Amino acid sequence: MEKKGLLTVVSGFSGAGKGTLMKGLLSKYDNYALSVSMTTRAPRPGEVDGREYFFITREQFEKNIEDGKLIEHAQYVGNYYGTPKDYVFEQLDAGKDVLLEIEIQGALQIKKRFPEALLLFVTTKDAQTLIERLKGRGTETEEVIFKRLKRAAEESEGIEEYEYLIVNDDLETCIEDMHDIIQKAKLKASRNSEFIKKIREDLKNI
Ligand code: ADP
Ligand code: 5GP
Repeated sequence: MEKKGLLTVVSGFSGAGKGTLMKGLLSKYDNYALSVSMTTRAPRPGEVDGREYFFITREQFEKNIEDGKLIEHAQYVGNYYGTPKDYVFEQLDAGKDVLLEIEIQGALQIKKRFPEALLLFVTTKDAQTLIERLKGRGTETEEVIFKRLKRAAEESEGIEEYEYLIVNDDLETCIEDMHDIIQKAKLKASRNSEFIKKIREDLKNI
């Protein structure tokens, strides 16, 4: 059965602005639902359990994997991250466009499991801007920033797996572009096979 909402995966280099873009979409439009992931990494100052993430132990995470509670999961710079299944399905059934802000290994699992999902890749206009944003955010040590930049170099190899590139230069323009892309993607014929089948049959029966 085709879901009413669209499942959209948003990946991109750490520091490119994914979190900021998600907040922008959620505050401007009411058709979006953001999935809250589970992670074993420690909360950053200001992060609240159940809002940015569900912060859990490795043992709890591994139990969730075993119990089939996650639609994808991956390890990123030494920690587990994963998407809880129930919330995503509930929101899609309710007609919400569900946003998954996840890294590339998880994105590829989603693409395989849900071929109709839309995959977006967020980047800065150049590498220097990425370094500045990561440093400017001030939430990671120099060492972690370096690891994340190394990871960005690896992730750049997979960009072609995504359908659209989202260049986050001017924030407001980028939020609008992203909204536009998601809404237009919902109208693709390939994502509406049940609608097409029904109208075809109804027309034949006239
Ligand atoms: P990510 O979630 O991809 O790791 P964040 O959303 O935390 O990235 O953004 C990284 C930093 O860049 C933050 O300090 C954020 O305020 C800043 N930022 C995000 N988008 C823009 C933009 N379009 N212009 C300038 N700064 C931005
Ligand atoms: P951060 O530690 O900066 O919050 O997230 C690190 C990376 O993990 C980011 O690229 C983020 O998109 C990704 N991530 C967050 N949640 C999930 C998830 O549920 N699954 C996967 N695969 N990646 C996630």
